[in-house]
Amino acid sequence: MTYLTHLTAGAAALTWAAETEAASFPEVTALFAVGALAGSLAPDVDEHRSWIGRRLPVVSHMLSLVFGHRGATHSAAAVLLLWGVYMLFPLELTAGLLFGYIVHLLCDLCSVRGIPVLLPLSKTRWKIPLYRTGGWIEWLLLAVMLGWLFHVHVMALPFL
Ligand SMILES: [Zn+2]
Repeated sequence: MTYLTHLTAGAAALTWAAETEAASFPEVTALFAVGALAGSLAPDVDEHRSWIGRRLPVVSHMLSLVFGHRGATHSAAAVLLLWGVYMLFPLELTAGLLFGYIVHLLCDLCSVRGIPVLLPLSKTRWKIPLYRTGGWIEWLLLAVMLGWLFHVHVMALPFL
């Protein structure tokens, strides 16, 4: 997925979370939202041409060199590491970061390329091949998510 689709998926998941009545879900606050949107882009820091990779070039080149794109940053180990960070610093920001990160990995899991969920134990890429990055299905998903977000956030404004 392109960064725009990942960011939109993060916003859509965030909106869904804010609207859900699940008691076990943390409250969606502004800090949680900032963390979630950052987390929805963070895994692609391992690709130096990605939106976030271009903003963190040194980190991006190092991660790309060591792990390659969709390597360790796209694994359950990375999620466990972030969960550990959240346990050490149980803040709204870290909770949101973990949430957005998981949304990103779920989106990439549904791509043709998949992700190495069990890295470093296995390099096998898990996938539910629903779309190709940059393909028409991704653009369709982006349009549907933007339409839904527009409906929820803009159409609900009191003056409309
Ligand atoms: Zn990714």
